[in-house]
Amino acid sequence: MLDIDAARTELNARKEELLARQVRVSRHTRHREDPLPQDFAEQAVELENGETLVALDQELSQELRRIDKALARIDAGTYPDCEACGEPIGEERLRALPYSVLCIDCAEDAAQRG
Ligand SMILES: [Zn+2]
Repeated sequence: MLDIDAARTELNARKEELLARQVRVSRHTRHREDPLPQDFAEQAVELENGETLVALDQELSQELRRIDKALARIDAGTYPDCEACGEPIGEERLRALPYSVLCIDCAEDAAQRG
């Protein structure tokens, strides 16, 4: 049985972390002469150029949108169901990827279709 409250807590925690990171990214984009924060070290060696920071910012925005969608699905009571086939996504998959909207089968189908 999937613990929806735990999933919600995790999604909210992840969201806060991403928002904080996004603020630091945009701050750095505006002040490029500042040294990079320590916690960017793991993300990319070539973060010096603005392009990579923009890409990182887009990545963060995309993940934030997915998290918001998952939170909306929790509120609507459809969270554990696959958006495509309506079957439960599966606890293991949701634990690994809390903002999944597709079950593993549909996700593989979508990946194959491109
Ligand atoms: Zn499915």
